Amino acid sequence: TPASGRLRVCILGSTGSIGTSTLDVLARHPDAYEVTTLTAHSRIDALAAQCLAWRPRQAVVARPEQATDLQARLRAAGLATEVLHGAAALEQVAADPGTDAVMAAIVGAAGLPPCLAAARAGKRLMLANKEAIVLGGALFMGAVKSGGAMLLPIDSEHSAIFQCLPEDRSAWASRIDHIVLTASGGPFRDRDPATLHSVTPDQACAHPNWVMGRKISVDSATMMNKALEVIEARWLFDLQPEQVRVVLHPQSIIHSMVVCRDNSVLAQLGTPDMRVPIAYGLSWPARIESGAARLDFLGLKPLTFETADAHRYPALPLAWQALRAREGSTAVLNAANEVAVEAFLGGRLRYDRIATLNADVLARLAVPETAAASVEGLLALDQEARALARQCLAELSA
Ligand code: NAD
Ligand code: MG
Repeated sequence: TPASGRLRVCILGSTGSIGTSTLDVLARHPDAYEVTTLTAHSRIDALAAQCLAWRPRQAVVARPEQATDLQARLRAAGLATEVLHGAAALEQVAADPGTDAVMAAIVGAAGLPPCLAAARAGKRLMLANKEAIVLGGALFMGAVKSGGAMLLPIDSEHSAIFQCLPEDRSAWASRIDHIVLTASGGPFRDRDPATLHSVTPDQACAHPNWVMGRKISVDSATMMNKALEVIEARWLFDLQPEQVRVVLHPQSIIHSMVVCRDNSVLAQLGTPDMRVPIAYGLSWPARIESGAARLDFLGLKPLTFETADAHRYPALPLAWQALRAREGSTAVLNAANEVAVEAFLGGRLRYDRIATLNADVLARLAVPETAAASVEGLLALDQEARALARQCLAELSA
């Protein structure tokens, strides 16, 4: 704990869904937390409003002209906030000695370098940005270990698993037989798969249980989100690919489960509200008020379970396929998916071809042997996979 007694928090991606939920939790605890840094990519007006409310020491935007504009606006309002810009500035603020904790809530591979910087600087690292760990894998976990960082999962499933495990991490391996990640099945769980070609971006983003950013909403519909979470769990909890399983649970009340060696099952339950895992990441090992509604057991619908059918969700098995292939393959899968989702949201790829494109890129790209050994190697692989994905995209649309 810092001298002031308040935990100093940097929020990477503060204007997004996770970013704003984090500020909602922090607003409930002004005596315990202080916001030092806010960052945004495109929504500068939203960032300006957040800066006026939270008076951070630093703010980061993407481009120089955005920085000049925001700096002038904040000066005019009497704020001393320093406005930085660009990818290097994200790494700088994530490692800043004046910050204790980093909420990694950027979407996509762009979040990896600042996550690594926070890990190496030994921060309390609250990880929502699953693409960073899917891309970084062993390198990411190595940086957490060597930097002495405290890695806290924010993804609700991984927070659930974490909440079911003892504080002593060295005891995890001997307890876990396997884990079961729950999945809602998304908006098309009951839809005829033969009609999925006509799905529009707005239909894909209308998730039944969670309100989220557009990229993760599309991922939830295709179950690529669950595929990324399988890979994320493998790294966070040091599991073999077959120790991570998935079951459909449409009500999203059980957030995930640990099946122990003795077949005792530990589950974490709650209303579907990201403020619970966010609050736990902020307060661990203590617990604080999150703002989430309490579970009303007597008002609950029956909790049901179904198989996650690979015919309906062809993207899901790609997780285990990538985990069993050469290290770096998960980075390829993630890059392909980022290109595919962007193309779908831009009206350039049919919904039912997102999984096809991901599978094609994974099958076609030969991962160099040493690609996963360095961040440079991984980022080069990420670029190579994006280029191949764009080529496949052109072939699919031709
Ligand atoms: P979002 O799209 O709502 O917000 C993304 C944030 O990242 C924004 O602040 C944006 O300005 C910033 N950003 C986008 N591209 C950037 C770039 N290239 N460089 C720097 N900043 C950039 O997304 P979200 O729903 O808040 O999700 C954020 C992350 O958390 C994702 O990795 C997602 O998978 C994960 N996650 C989200 C939820 C949820 O409920 N929303 C749940 C679990 C995990
Ligand atoms: Mg999740």
